[in-house]
Amino acid sequence: MYTRLKTKKIFIGNLSIGGGAPVIVQTMTKTDTADVRATVNQIKRLERIGCEIIRVAVPDMTAAKKLSLIKKNIKIPLVADIHYDYKLALESIKQGADKIRINPGNMPKEKTREVIKAAKGAGIPIRIGVNVGSLRSAHSPELDSYKKAGMIVSTALEHIKMMEDMDFTDIVVSLKSSDVLTTIKSYEMFAEKRNYPLHIGITESGPPGIGTIKSTVGIGVLLYRGLGDTLRVSLTSEPEKEVVEGYLILQSLGLRSRGFDIISCPTCGRCGVDLIKIVEEFERKITHRLSHISHRSQPIRVAIMGCIVNGPGEAKDADIGIAAGKNEGLLFKKGKPIKKIKPAEWVKALMKEVASL
Ligand code: SF4
Repeated sequence: MYTRLKTKKIFIGNLSIGGGAPVIVQTMTKTDTADVRATVNQIKRLERIGCEIIRVAVPDMTAAKKLSLIKKNIKIPLVADIHYDYKLALESIKQGADKIRINPGNMPKEKTREVIKAAKGAGIPIRIGVNVGSLRSAHSPELDSYKKAGMIVSTALEHIKMMEDMDFTDIVVSLKSSDVLTTIKSYEMFAEKRNYPLHIGITESGPPGIGTIKSTVGIGVLLYRGLGDTLRVSLTSEPEKEVVEGYLILQSLGLRSRGFDIISCPTCGRCGVDLIKIVEEFERKITHRLSHISHRSQPIRVAIMGCIVNGPGEAKDADIGIAAGKNEGLLFKKGKPIKKIKPAEWVKALMKEVASL
């Protein structure tokens, strides 16, 4: 693994990002921001499973004016996502947003300057989010991912120059594309030029499945190369899924722990139990318990294996494990066999053992 790029340390509320701080997992609410109750409830659910920064869309003044109320009811830093209308950014700053995300390309320059001035006055950072979708010149089929990445980076550098000229450097940068290679190249190119903290992810990656794969490849490669200070897995799905998958990527690279890891076999003709159903049920249940175990620096490893070929070995190596035999399974705890149990009891038994660790 590459050494992490030493980026500038900045603060979002009390949370530091960049400068060697752990990679932060964030997501965005999918409620109507003006519906304070629904938005706060969603954020509270996300806080419980480890979301560390929350971004909300601010599409109009009604939403902007609700930000202070939302902020009062949550614990994690609140980011206002603004497009087109600089007045929404100014109001969001007034309402106490901990950071604002703008795409300066879709705001007049002189208005962007007003926003920068206001953020500077409030002492909050700005994320410049350059998205290839909003770069009209990048929509030619003749452009390869390398050329598109070059355009994304030069646009970001232009906006950064405007900020630096105003002596504003509390900047986070995201360079997004729905194309994985363009995204990776953009961040690599940018990292050679500036050391501002990077928010990484594959934008508009799609639904779980295809979106998860694109995000994992893109984010995983970037993290492996030492790039990325905060991340979001963008999925056409519930935001909880984005947070859980964000942690899974970090955990796979040994960068953060989400509390548990599941080792389970793909099953084959030797498997005598409905392992797929059992593992799905266990994952659903353990994910709901995440807030109780996510503080662990080392994940709890749970092995759920379909037969005696690899089952006992994996189950012994895990903190808790079950290896299937014929119509039953042998439960292991910390490498020692405990008892035999019927498949219908496996999930309950595993949950009980996890709780006892
Ligand atoms: Fe098949 Fe057994 Fe391997 Fe699972 S552990 S894939 S059931 S051989």
